[in-house]
Amino acid sequence: MHQLSAHTVRLLSSAQVVASVLNVVKELTENALDADATAIDVKLENFGLERIEVRDNGIGIRAEDAPVMGVRHFTSKISSHEDLETLQTYGFRGEALGSICAVAEVTVTTKTKDDDVSVQYSLDSSGNIVSQKPSHLGQGTTVSVQRLFRNLPVRRQLYSSSKKCREELRRIQEVLTAFAIVKPELRIALYHNKGEAVRLVRQMPSRFSRAEVTETLRRMCAELERSHGTCLHGRPFLRPLVDLPRTDEEARTLAAPAAL
Ligand code: ADP
Ligand code: MG
Repeated sequence: MHQLSAHTVRLLSSAQVVASVLNVVKELTENALDADATAIDVKLENFGLERIEVRDNGIGIRAEDAPVMGVRHFTSKISSHEDLETLQTYGFRGEALGSICAVAEVTVTTKTKDDDVSVQYSLDSSGNIVSQKPSHLGQGTTVSVQRLFRNLPVRRQLYSSSKKCREELRRIQEVLTAFAIVKPELRIALYHNKGEAVRLVRQMPSRFSRAEVTETLRRMCAELERSHGTCLHGRPFLRPLVDLPRTDEEARTLAAPAAL
């Protein structure tokens, strides 16, 4: 027997935390929500394999926190396990960003309300900053994840057919829809490939049938458990009721500004 190298251990354990495009989108969206974002844009290129970008208008990351944001087990959300009793956030393990860094190329662009300009940080596979430069984005954080699983052929294999890719996109759409349902005040959008139709309406309608909300949440929890071994944290606040859009066309109609 021999001991695996630290690099291999990090790669393998990261691949457990981040097992799919859906996982990445979910983790980044949860980080945005934890940062009190009221608007989130999720952009995917080639089903997220080429690029996943999640942009939020949340509180941003302070310059002094940036050096550890991608280092595993660093979190701003709890200080010790006792804080779990009063947890108000989705994240608390400090594992997501660091794990994503191990399996993809990550840049984080962020600006807090006290910063004059945003800064774009490039992270290495251990989550350390390798370079930084000023950029032009407004308050909030944009995480860009490129070439996911480039170093993990077995994971990449999961997306070998266009059927599997489309299926993953559908799951992503479903999970984001669920976030939109539990946070009716949130503006959340999903785009796939430049110029391709918007998949999720800009503003989900704020009223759904109780049965639809329950069913969506059940499916989402099942999905997250299946693919992540975890479930959704937090106490969603459910609003009352109309129909969920059934097709993209219906969703677009609902999202269109009301005719005067
Ligand atoms: P966790 O969410 O469990 O704390 P993550 O690895 O997901 O761990 O994120 C690490 C830290 O990076 C967070 O605790 C937070 O301080 C910061 N962070 C990550 N994403 C964002 C974001 N979109 N906005 C503000 N801070 C963020
Ligand atoms: Mg997190």
